Amino acid sequence: MKIEELRIQDISPEVRNGCQELNLSDSVLRQCMEKLRAQIDLGLNPSTREQASVKCYNTYVQDLPTGKEKGQFLALDLGGTNFRVLLITLNGRHFDMQSKIYVVPKEIMLGAGEVLFDHIASCLESFALQHRVAKKNLPLGFTFSFPLNQVGLKSGILTRWTKGFNCANTVGEDVVQMLAKALAKRDSIKIDVVAILNDTTGTLMSCAWKNHNCKVGVILGTGSNACYVEKIKNVIGFDGDTSKPHVIINTEWGAFGDHGELDFIRTPYDKEIDKHSVNPGKQLHEKMISGMYLGELARLLIIKFTKDKVLFGGQINPKLQERWSFLTEYISDIESDPRGVFKQCRNVLGKLNILDPTDQDCSNIRYICESVSRRAAYLASAGVATLINKMDIPSVTVGVDGSLYRFHPHFHNLMHEKIPELCNSSIENLCINLMLSEDGSGRGAALIAASGSENNPE
Ligand code: BGC
Ligand code: MG
Repeated sequence: MKIEELRIQDISPEVRNGCQELNLSDSVLRQCMEKLRAQIDLGLNPSTREQASVKCYNTYVQDLPTGKEKGQFLALDLGGTNFRVLLITLNGRHFDMQSKIYVVPKEIMLGAGEVLFDHIASCLESFALQHRVAKKNLPLGFTFSFPLNQVGLKSGILTRWTKGFNCANTVGEDVVQMLAKALAKRDSIKIDVVAILNDTTGTLMSCAWKNHNCKVGVILGTGSNACYVEKIKNVIGFDGDTSKPHVIINTEWGAFGDHGELDFIRTPYDKEIDKHSVNPGKQLHEKMISGMYLGELARLLIIKFTKDKVLFGGQINPKLQERWSFLTEYISDIESDPRGVFKQCRNVLGKLNILDPTDQDCSNIRYICESVSRRAAYLASAGVATLINKMDIPSVTVGVDGSLYRFHPHFHNLMHEKIPELCNSSIENLCINLMLSEDGSGRGAALIAASGSENNPE
């Protein structure tokens, strides 16, 4: 018997059986794909969008970068772990960037919208002054990573908050106008907001800047979402530039399942997470996939098996009983141990005051983490495969960004293996490449601001 098989024997049958419901077969994944495709089709048509869980918003971005973009740009990146302000210089293939991270305190995340935008404006002001660009009227691209019903390249109505944000008096408002209003209060800066974009769009653009074959942008970070290049003729009632053949569609796939489409695979753990979130009933697909939730999913499973006396001799540690105490980064740490080694695992458990786990405890914990992250990677793969099947092209590069994808030791491999298995067998010579984006939210914003400011000479 090989060592690996020996170790697998260490996993308790109760844990193996209990995690079974997280194990999605290809046939279940194909059912998800069919349902997702149906929602995408509803979302692409304005007369049925209302009923669609997946809204498929037009981004008004119709050109991939040429590599000839030039100039100095400001960018804002709001919607992930951090809020950032960036100053970017593009000059052909040359790219230079300075940036600063600012904290968005929890009370601002959950406070009044006006306070949030005042905070953003004040960070931007201090950054612009520090870099001596405050009065240059630089074009700014705003990466705003929440669902926006865009009305144009620089106009977008917020449709809901996600990822723990929930600011009052903002849903239904134009986010660019809110920002412009906050900026107008400050005499020391003059800035021209020329584009608003989603982080998926930024990711697609920044990857396409290097690799023109990039047609899909995916975020697997705090939240989850994807955008892709669609043919204008498939976007009913398209009101952008109809002389161009394509447009990037922001699917907002994180909301898939909000109309019950994923009920056939949601587990009691998924339901519990949803119940205790700031947005119950919303973003159900995202809650099964993204970094904000995976640690908590693992924690709920660990608690269940401890109560069943399969883990830690049935002793529940108080720290582990706190909601959200098991961070998603712990999953990445635990899975980065070589198989059969539990160094990181013991280290993580130590942080939770679990000081003397047995090897069997550790094997079980690792198996729980793997089950949670594998399900996430497979659901994300099913989403990507749905888009590739829809585009019906044999060779495509998928730009990916986000802390989960970046730091999880196996996410890339799991997806790399699963996506082709789920793509239509009718697509010949399939070649799919997953490309890690280098700062899509920043560089992508600058690339779009570059095209936005050319069209916008005032
Ligand atoms: C938001 C998307 C965003 C994704 C990744 C989701 O919660 O709705 O707009 O792209 O998170 O940041
Ligand atoms: Mg981000």
